[in-house]
Amino acid sequence: MAFRDPRRRDNPTTVAELTQLAPNIDFAIFFRGTGAPAFTRVNLLNPQYLRDISTALDTLPLAAWKAYMKWRVLDALAPVLASRFEREAFRFNGTVLSGQKEMRPRWMRCNDAVAGQPGADALGEIVGQIFIQQRFGADARARMNELIAALQHSLERTLGGLEWMSPATRARALEKLAALNRKIGGTEKWRDFSAVSIKRDDYAGNSMRIAANDTQRQLHWIGQPVDRGLWLMTPQTVNAYYSPQLNEIVFPAGILQPPFFDATKDDAVNFGGAGAVIGHEMSHGFDDSGRRFDPKGNLTDWWTPADDAAFRQRASCVASQYGGYSAIEGATLNGNLTLGENVADNAGLRIAYYALMEVLAAKGPSTPPGPGPQPEIDGFTPDQRFFIAWAQVWCENATDQDFRRRAQEDVHAPGRWRANGVLQNSEEFRKAFGCRAGTPMAPVNTCRVW
Ligand SMILES: [Zn+2]
Repeated sequence: MAFRDPRRRDNPTTVAELTQLAPNIDFAIFFRGTGAPAFTRVNLLNPQYLRDISTALDTLPLAAWKAYMKWRVLDALAPVLASRFEREAFRFNGTVLSGQKEMRPRWMRCNDAVAGQPGADALGEIVGQIFIQQRFGADARARMNELIAALQHSLERTLGGLEWMSPATRARALEKLAALNRKIGGTEKWRDFSAVSIKRDDYAGNSMRIAANDTQRQLHWIGQPVDRGLWLMTPQTVNAYYSPQLNEIVFPAGILQPPFFDATKDDAVNFGGAGAVIGHEMSHGFDDSGRRFDPKGNLTDWWTPADDAAFRQRASCVASQYGGYSAIEGATLNGNLTLGENVADNAGLRIAYYALMEVLAAKGPSTPPGPGPQPEIDGFTPDQRFFIAWAQVWCENATDQDFRRRAQEDVHAPGRWRANGVLQNSEEFRKAFGCRAGTPMAPVNTCRVW
């Protein structure tokens, strides 16, 4: 839990101090071995971890270390080794931990190996260039820019109207929002793979050479100015993120498709999907963790003590709300672990709703089908379609084991509670569907931060 607070992850140290902290590790040899350029300062995510490792080097027998290292290598490479390794890794990670009955089809695993999924994006930026060409035209970019502008304006108005925030902190919050950078589609500077040799008969070798190439790419950042053009996701990724250190929201081209976005659907549906996701990412700059960073992405406290207390009080309401939900029977959610995501979901949907209202009002009445306000489609009002779209985004199918595992370690609540947790707090939702106060979707006590 401690690491949700970025102040706990900020431990700048000199390389000399590192040696005192963990005397059994020869950092000079280690850093030289990685091929890193010379440097004198590092940041320690978790100093205690290094202390413990240093002690363990003394206390655990050499044979145990050898076995552990061997296992680390095999575990990491299992998916690209012979099928008995791959099957054994799946037997534990897939079956025991996640309850999957069988491996994903071979073509999907092959696709992941090339196009990549988050965290293991192999040659993803090569595939991404083709994806952008084929799937992401100027109109998609323009549509996305419009959506973001509408959401940003809505968040601005929300911040302007918050009664729990003092004018001083509000001014800083608005300043941070105005400084928010956006990236859409994919990187403008594609990763260089020219040094990687790909051999038809050396799958594991290819994988290791790609990983080594990436490590070298990252080591070259040492001592260089921050690269503000950096992308942490490939264009084809169906996801988005906020970077507190760059104060930016990033939307790969992959998220601009159903159920998040559909150019043939009306505004209500797209604001309930992509709009709420944009609002979610934007408000990460103001969640329990993101609020610790200033407009430039520096870890600075810009809150007055009273506003800080007011935020924490409201956030603790959200933490106990979600802490009262269960992923499945016997596995309650951790309200603090999921706090940032839940705060962002609640803020995101709310500002998306008010952004939609403003857009519809500006467009004036029109007759369906087509963009613009439409009284009803399939018997649903724009308000209702907006909330239905939100719920559809979170439809999911998972095994009991997977729900149980995620309740322990995922910072996101399961889809059911991402949809319903937010809606139970939403005044606008109960109006749209005529929920009576005190019924399950309209509880008496609700939470609101932003
Ligand atoms: Zn998030």
